[in-house]
Amino acid sequence: MTSKNPETLALHAGWRRDSATNAVAVPIYQTTSFQFDSTEHASNLFGLKELGNIYTRIMNPTQDAFEQRIAALEGGVAALALASGQAASAFSVQNLARAGDNIVSSTDLYGGTWNLFANTLKDQGIEVRFVDPTDPEAFRRATDDKTRAYYAETLPNPKLIPFPIAEVAAIGRSFGIPLIMDNTAAPLLVRPFDHGAAVVMYSATKYIGGHGTSIGGVVIDGGNFDWEAHPARQPLLNQPDPSYHGAVWSQAVKPLGPIAYILKMRVTLLRDLGAAIAPFNSFLFLQGIETLPLRMRAHSENALAVAKFLAGRKDVSRVIHPSQHIGAAAERTAKYLPRGMGGLCGFELASGADAGRKFIDALKMFYHVANIGDARSLAIHPASTTHSQLTAEEQAATGVTPGYVRLSVGIEHIDDIIADLSQALDAAQG
Ligand code: PLP
Repeated sequence: MTSKNPETLALHAGWRRDSATNAVAVPIYQTTSFQFDSTEHASNLFGLKELGNIYTRIMNPTQDAFEQRIAALEGGVAALALASGQAASAFSVQNLARAGDNIVSSTDLYGGTWNLFANTLKDQGIEVRFVDPTDPEAFRRATDDKTRAYYAETLPNPKLIPFPIAEVAAIGRSFGIPLIMDNTAAPLLVRPFDHGAAVVMYSATKYIGGHGTSIGGVVIDGGNFDWEAHPARQPLLNQPDPSYHGAVWSQAVKPLGPIAYILKMRVTLLRDLGAAIAPFNSFLFLQGIETLPLRMRAHSENALAVAKFLAGRKDVSRVIHPSQHIGAAAERTAKYLPRGMGGLCGFELASGADAGRKFIDALKMFYHVANIGDARSLAIHPASTTHSQLTAEEQAATGVTPGYVRLSVGIEHIDDIIADLSQALDAAQG
């Protein structure tokens, strides 16, 4: 596929037809195993002399089509699909850092990632140093000899301030440290590799699937990071791996292209920890991707219209949407989000938590769920749900105030979206 246009790649990249049946749609290869042609073929596959299907925990043709398509859309060289976004976040770090190492991460993270970093990785001996993303230099200050990666979200909620990808990626590259970007909230709107990131990951559960049906994740290798040039900084890619007959990944994978990072993840972490994606979910994510360019456009247009509507309401004290930023955050929005600002929008009700609850209960079309990125419009009141176990101070630190409501604006007709919000806002004042 020679096109660079996302609308075309979303339909064609990574697949033409089934080699066995000529089927146009990607078949769901619901099989655990693949017969080897001969003992030589089998040993070539296991020895990575040849890439091919062995067992669906490691790879599967439906998964492969999904991986190729998302890698093409992202401008990367290869991808690995996984059972969830959580698995993708964990693997993206564990592929580079082991006990005794650290990574530097933005503080502005999805709560599940925060827990993974602050507790589970810590228990495994990997320290995560959290820094404020408003100052890219904070990443440099937190770096030491054991720092193996930087990590951040492109458009973290609730603040919805784009992360300074180029600035932090450049600092990382000066040390031999790759920047891993969680791009879940901004597929196609931002391509982090274009700004110097080395790895991109997604919770595919959100916009990529797009229809609220499947949990999945994916990690994409930009193929743009010279692991070999930094042997001391990146030992896991440059020292012999005892779990693969002493393979040095940056060397062993060279004949297959610049895919050392993602191939190592597949044949070690996925092999050992087993967070494999089901073939059916890969199929559903492929279906989602076909309309992703259309949906991201519609989500962005509708959320922008919602932000304008909310900004005009007297009972709304603050609207949180990239279009509403001022100063440095507005400059970042102009730099990173020229293609659209995504489907998320937050707001605060002047009359606080009680009004927030009433508003949610009064919604008729919006669903009250903890998810984002569905084609349908979704809403949640974090202070009484996702963040209810935090103290008021902790809630404030994460950007959640008592009257804060998060919307994931869907692709319904904008008049119906505004009508539902409008009647629920009126009811919240009653
Ligand atoms: N990253 C972000 C930004 C998310 O919003 C989520 C889920 O909400 C995840 C990662 C985790 O993904 P999953 O729920 O697919 O495990």
